[in-house]
Amino acid sequence: MKKLSLYIHFPFCLKKCRYCDFYSESFDLPKVDKWLDALIREIDIWKTDYFDFKIYTLFFGGGSPNLLSSTQFIRLLESLKTAFDMSELTEFTVETNPVKRDREFLMLLKDTGVNRLNVGVQSFIENELQTLGRIHTVTDVFDMFENLDAVGFDHIGLDLIYGIPGQSIDSWRDSLSYALNCGVDHLSLYNLSYEEGTPLSKLLEQDKINPIDSDVEKQMYLEACQLLLENGYHHYEISNWAKPGSESRHNRAYWEGKRYLGLGPAAHSYDGKSRWWNVRSIDKYLELTKIGQLPVDSQEELTEQDREIEHLFLRLRTSNGLSRSQFENLFHIDFDRIINKLIKLNIDEEYWIFDGHRFKLTPGGWFVSDSIINTILGFIEEIRNDHKKS
Ligand code: SF4
Repeated sequence: MKKLSLYIHFPFCLKKCRYCDFYSESFDLPKVDKWLDALIREIDIWKTDYFDFKIYTLFFGGGSPNLLSSTQFIRLLESLKTAFDMSELTEFTVETNPVKRDREFLMLLKDTGVNRLNVGVQSFIENELQTLGRIHTVTDVFDMFENLDAVGFDHIGLDLIYGIPGQSIDSWRDSLSYALNCGVDHLSLYNLSYEEGTPLSKLLEQDKINPIDSDVEKQMYLEACQLLLENGYHHYEISNWAKPGSESRHNRAYWEGKRYLGLGPAAHSYDGKSRWWNVRSIDKYLELTKIGQLPVDSQEELTEQDREIEHLFLRLRTSNGLSRSQFENLFHIDFDRIINKLIKLNIDEEYWIFDGHRFKLTPGGWFVSDSIINTILGFIEEIRNDHKKS
């Protein structure tokens, strides 16, 4: 059976958060209708290419998809069902902000098959929410969870951010403990990053905010790893924890290099060989779909080397890590040579575990994973160059 994961991008938010560089525009109801018309046109263009695929997971993200009206949501769903085979859909996720939304809308989501809700809480501390430029308050978060309890979704995920200017280890512990009290079965914890062009990164350039020291961020991450482990959450990916059986299948599909199709402005897609992404402009998106064209901005064919590198990065982000045989099949290099080089370079063994079959990063290693993976890639190149010379 050919399986496909589907991502839908809703490109509107009530207000832009100060750290965010996802593509979103100010919420404007008539424009949402136009976006939906265009999305349905895009679905229509793709449906023949994917007529023999079964949609395995569906993720409705953004932006703030919770701003859609019930009528618009039903219309979107109907068009998806008409175009694609959804008979084997195992997971249907919707992202939501903890803004006031009536319980009826949440009931509608559940009744139409949404079995996973991801709530972008980010912090339980009022002034941290303000630093991030979030529009919701802590009271909104509690109201949201009261509604979610009443509706009863199969899975609820909650996102938090650490490394927020002004955040302390104590306030981070408070946020974690509130998050645990919400009784969710999935948590995503992200280290705040200063993306170019965002208001927060401009404040940083102007020395108007103090970034959190990297050692403190590391302590926040490692404490969270310990606390969540003690509370029965499985740390299955660098930034993701789940109660057993509640891992996100949609995200897993990304990490395992499975095929996915992204619809909507700025959405990304991958078919195992190439990657493409849609235009990052709602106006351009409307214009292209209106004349029956795919709203693709660019496409890149992945070389064998790109795929190898990506495989290494994705595998080492997950708790399964990389098996010796996977590595040796991919790179045609004896994995012991990599281990010997790691030991010789004194790359701390508390960052990684190798039992002779499987290589994994520890939480400490995950915190510095980019540098460890780049070091391993450097070793691979060195060994290949040695082979060429000999
Ligand atoms: S709500 Fe999400 S997508 Fe919208 S601006 Fe904030 S972080 Fe970005």
